[in-house]
Amino acid sequence: MEIQNKYNQFWPFSNSYLKLPNVFFEIRVPEKTKNPKLIKYNRSLSQELNLNIKDTNLIKDLFSGNYISEKAKTIALAYSGHQFGNFVPNLGDGRAILLGEVTKKNGTLFDIQLKGSGKTKFSRNGDGKAPLGPVIREYIVSEAMNALSIPTTRSLAIISTGEKVFREKTLPGGILTRVASSHLRVGTFQYCQILNDLDKLKKLCDFAINRHFPAIKNMKNPYLELLVQLQEKQTYLISKWMSVGFIHGVMNTDNTSISGETIDFGPCAFMDKYDPNAVFSSIDFKGRYSFSNQPGIAQWNLARFAEAILPLIHENEKLAISQANEVINEYPRIFKQKWLRIMGRKLGLEKTETNDETLINDFLNIMSKNNLDFTSTYRNLCNHYILNENNNIEIDNWKNEWNQRLKKERIEFQTISKKMKKINPLYIPRNHLVEKVINEAVYKDNFQPLEEILNLITKPFSEKIEDTFYSVTPKSGEQVFQTFCGT
Ligand code: AMP
Ligand code: MG
Repeated sequence: MEIQNKYNQFWPFSNSYLKLPNVFFEIRVPEKTKNPKLIKYNRSLSQELNLNIKDTNLIKDLFSGNYISEKAKTIALAYSGHQFGNFVPNLGDGRAILLGEVTKKNGTLFDIQLKGSGKTKFSRNGDGKAPLGPVIREYIVSEAMNALSIPTTRSLAIISTGEKVFREKTLPGGILTRVASSHLRVGTFQYCQILNDLDKLKKLCDFAINRHFPAIKNMKNPYLELLVQLQEKQTYLISKWMSVGFIHGVMNTDNTSISGETIDFGPCAFMDKYDPNAVFSSIDFKGRYSFSNQPGIAQWNLARFAEAILPLIHENEKLAISQANEVINEYPRIFKQKWLRIMGRKLGLEKTETNDETLINDFLNIMSKNNLDFTSTYRNLCNHYILNENNNIEIDNWKNEWNQRLKKERIEFQTISKKMKKINPLYIPRNHLVEKVINEAVYKDNFQPLEEILNLITKPFSEKIEDTFYSVTPKSGEQVFQTFCGT
């Protein structure tokens, strides 16, 4: 039976992006896949999104791109971006297609996008496909981020396409269904900047404001306020990343979302041992996106955003620049405030005291000097334990300072400990485990480890007594020193 008739033109998506001028997108349908298999469907997310589809064939056909209703207009989005500091005018969705939006029960819109669904006019020399490995990786890491209460795009489905994708090796293909508050990026505004068309820029900014910051619509200068809001979102996001040892790996302006969500999980990683200079991405030769560079890079990306919308901030360019600078100069202060708050809470500190910053930094230094695991060390601290090592004066001193500081909280440690265990995770998607899950899935068709890791990382704070899967440290041969885009 013809697939169209079979589903009776069921189509749960709308598409507000189509109201923008058509230079912002290409109308395009996904390529068909020959032998799609539904590897994973995120049922709880589908319920949140009001997508209660019971028919698993329909789920498979929808999220493999094989069924697109005749009335649908699916699109690839245009954007530019600074990649590792170099401006590239023509990026865009080279391997992703936006099916459209769904509306959550509270009225907010969410984009539903297929990633790896074939070529678009933005594909340049790429094939528009994604190998299954990176698709699984994005699913795991994005769902982990969400469980850690870090703003992030989500993952709704994994499809294996049954097709081969040619990279350095021949690999099985996959498609990820990504869910995002929107796919507006700093790079979308940079794309508009080079169009040099004030009307289009205004339409784009108004679209972003309506979608993400409706409360600022009627302010005196909503466009300057848009910059303020974005700064608020980005400082919050990066402070959250820093608090769990997350390295994004490719913080290009096209990978910086206006919604403030973590987006585009490529060569990202959670640190094992704490090293402020850690770099994982195999393509980050100069360490531009190292762990400790992330706050500064986000500020740099914000400055690129400000440049893109300057003509709307003020018609007088000089004034526009000085107003934008005034906002962005506040970045370090705002970031630090958020970072201190979150890092303090990791140590059980709810109040703020003048010496907290030193206490936090001294603890980080102890971790880096002693090669300690970032996640486990914080978790152990919840049980008032650092290292099974006598005569480490530095650690003893630090513990004394911390004990003194805890007294000022005026709460018994048992209660503090409980709170600490709610923000210091036990389970993160450690690189060696993610690699293991991917290898089992891709080369052995074994998806059981995927289920096991998802069970742990989606409830990262609660200890599973009977778990045998999770290991903090890799066995020899399992170490991961570099992560790859794998696109
Ligand atoms: P990303 O590394 O995912 O941030 O992608 C950077 C740019 O390269 C985006 O414009 C992507 O659409 C494009 N791109 C990445 N991989 C492919 C591919 N396999 N085919 C076409 N375009 C791609
Ligand atoms: Mg990208």
